[in-house]
Amino acid sequence: MRNTDPDEKERSYRSRLKERKRIVVKIGSSSLHHMTTGELNLTKMERLVRELCELKNQGKDVILVSSGAIAVGRKVMNINPSEKDIPVKQACAAVGQARLMMIYQKLFAEYNHTTAQILMTKHTIVDEINRRNAHNTFTQLLKMGVIPVVNENDTVAIHEVEDTIGDNDFLSAVVANLVGADLLILLSDIDGLYTDDPRSNKDAGFISLVEDLNDVMDMGKESTGSNIGTGGMSAKLHAATVAVNAGTDMVIANGKDVSVIHKITEGRFYGTLFKSRKDDSFDIADYIDKM
Ligand code: GLU
Repeated sequence: MRNTDPDEKERSYRSRLKERKRIVVKIGSSSLHHMTTGELNLTKMERLVRELCELKNQGKDVILVSSGAIAVGRKVMNINPSEKDIPVKQACAAVGQARLMMIYQKLFAEYNHTTAQILMTKHTIVDEINRRNAHNTFTQLLKMGVIPVVNENDTVAIHEVEDTIGDNDFLSAVVANLVGADLLILLSDIDGLYTDDPRSNKDAGFISLVEDLNDVMDMGKESTGSNIGTGGMSAKLHAATVAVNAGTDMVIANGKDVSVIHKITEGRFYGTLFKSRKDDSFDIADYIDKM
């Protein structure tokens, strides 16, 4: 939670978030599941979908990046979360992704919105032809008023051999870059960026606005506190690098209550805002290739 009042500059930056027209929202596995049972939190998913439909109804383009394929698939197939076998994980992802989409499609359809599934790998971005095709597909879907639901294609990209884009925080920044989004909201299990890990240091201060990423780059801690999902704070700062350079404002906020989405887009002071600083020389394919 913030402990200082926002200054004029932050008020003005926050207020401008109301005008954002193309918004990517990322939700992680840990936010979608009940930690106790590993089952999907359907109430939360329903609220998330309603928030996104409302943004869409306001005339904005909306893209959802959702994790959960592997976790859902494991639950369906009754596979232990500690299972390390890669083909088993990939099979779980195939089962879980389809299940996840079925639920999203049903929920979005209740509000008369159409969704589409886009599964990406590192090669979707690094390969120029693939990247152009992906860009064209996203552009056309948004023109048609569809809400794309994106995940990494976990059935073919393998985290264990570093063949993936990374984690879905990073993927969502890559998507924001690809579609020229002007706002990326990362829903996390923490309120935003702190000067230190607030779970172990009670004096850790909340950072509400980041104007220069260099000032905060060493603040990302590896752990997320949850054992599902892959993105810690350092992954989020990595995502911020891509978003900010692409000209996308990025907000990390707590996904415990998904109403934070409309609070952010109303220009209210939730989460940590990373102010965009477009760098025309930034090349996403080159950046990923060198990772
Ligand atoms: N793509 C993975 C899944 O859907 C999650 C990756 C992540 O959360 O970073 O299960």
